[in-house]
Amino acid sequence: MKQMDTKTLANYINGEWMEAEHTAPVINPATGEEIAKVPLSSEQHVEKAVQAAKKAQKEWALVPAPQRAEVLYRTGTLLREQKERLARLLTMENGKVLEEARGEVQEAIDMAFYMAGEGRRLFGQTTPSELKDKFAMSVRVPVGVIGIITPWNFPIAIASWKSFPAIVAGNAVVWKPATETPMMAYELTKILEEAGLPKGVMNLVFGSGSTVGDAMVHHPNIQVISFTGSNEIGRNIAAECGRQLKKVSLEMGGKNAVIVMDDADLELAADGIIWSAYGTSGQRCTACSRVIVHEKVKAELEARLLAKIKHLTVGNGLNEEVKVGPIINKRGIEKIKRYIEIGVEEGARLLTGGYELIEGDLKKGNYFAPTLFTDVKGTMRIAQEEIFGPVVSLIPVKSFQEAIEVNNCVEFGLSSSIFTQDVKKVFRAQRDLDTGIVYVNAGTTGAEIHLPFGGTKGTGNGHRDSGIQALDVFTEWRAVYVDYSGKLQRAQIDVE
Ligand code: NAP
Repeated sequence: MKQMDTKTLANYINGEWMEAEHTAPVINPATGEEIAKVPLSSEQHVEKAVQAAKKAQKEWALVPAPQRAEVLYRTGTLLREQKERLARLLTMENGKVLEEARGEVQEAIDMAFYMAGEGRRLFGQTTPSELKDKFAMSVRVPVGVIGIITPWNFPIAIASWKSFPAIVAGNAVVWKPATETPMMAYELTKILEEAGLPKGVMNLVFGSGSTVGDAMVHHPNIQVISFTGSNEIGRNIAAECGRQLKKVSLEMGGKNAVIVMDDADLELAADGIIWSAYGTSGQRCTACSRVIVHEKVKAELEARLLAKIKHLTVGNGLNEEVKVGPIINKRGIEKIKRYIEIGVEEGARLLTGGYELIEGDLKKGNYFAPTLFTDVKGTMRIAQEEIFGPVVSLIPVKSFQEAIEVNNCVEFGLSSSIFTQDVKKVFRAQRDLDTGIVYVNAGTTGAEIHLPFGGTKGTGNGHRDSGIQALDVFTEWRAVYVDYSGKLQRAQIDVE
């Protein structure tokens, strides 16, 4: 195998690293520097990858699941050994601060060991037959070739949520990562190779969504598309998969809210809001972008938030002092600026921030000041649409009931949170908040890999990443009946 230059990345197809004719620069959003070149592949690369995956999958499915899992154990071990190096690369390509990058790599490590455990479970069900001398069970079987399309904001965690369950269940994968953040994809694939994954089981094809992603979605030999990204792209993918009767799992945007009731521990609530709103510069699908606050504690919460925002150092995430890193690119900055204008025009009151940071070294990267709007109405566009930046809207309410209604009045349904000391409100909230994830006395972010991750309404289409539920995307249920009576026994008829 050819030794790779880490500066120029290559596709990995059928166990071989292959350079592509065309490349694009990979830019560090903190500094504006080029840190690598990523292949811009064509439909032909997708074709090769799918054919390799199709061939490899047949043999991989016959490898006993506990042996398939051994590859994931080794993957987890290698990831753990290289955690610090990977976290630094992740910060360089994505911008999130080092502490968060370490957390993200840890998520992939956890997922590797968790899914490796599935190699000795992958439980089906046995159940009595209605007939004598007949045995009934249902088992999980692999689906075939899985197409994985991932976003730039969690370049290794989301890839692990999708590829590890797919692999342990006996599928082969064609993976298209986001062009913005290809280095984690390259590193993870190298680790899977080193861990002994047979050739063709994982195929990595870099390139744009409109070429590589689209070719995967249209390919008749890819049976499942597992997509995480924006609603606009996800809806189009789902429409095309629908036409082909292709299984599609979608994890998309969010407009996540923290509710702060009048009996809340306000210091704890403010800490939870700061962490979930401004961490990853607000570029998490679970980022808190709305704070629904009881009017009795609004002024005090605003004061606490403003005091904490003042201490948020913005800058290059490789610097351990920094708490808020850059925005992924200039398009992201422009989008945030448009929403600031929209918010002001709608009558929201800007308490702090609202501008791009361009002083000193910051002008080399893409930085935006942590921003807080107040006196926002739940129906305003800044409280309805995903901004994907460090922008929070405070929405005052008069009651618990109104808080729940405001939380639920958006198109999205990913995560929500409530700060209260009242156990009745806690249980009512976890019942009535309509999101896929609900937190109590914690911010809107902090999912653990052994629980299902995903959202309701416009956030998804009913599937879940991570947790045991991820296996439902990558397996089919097969019902098996074994009749050992030696005679014809007809279900529903010969039951007397
Ligand atoms: P995006 O623009 O939708 O891109 C996501 C992926 O889709 C990228 O790999 C992209 O490729 C690819 N793509 C673009 N056009 C495509 C097409 N026509 N066919 C097939 N694939 C195509 O989203 P993003 O900006 O990377 O990510 C941010 C979004 O993801 C936010 O809305 C966020 O909320 C959401 N997200 C959701 C979750 C969740 O679990 N619910 C988690 C994380 C992020 P290229 O970019 O390389 O062209």
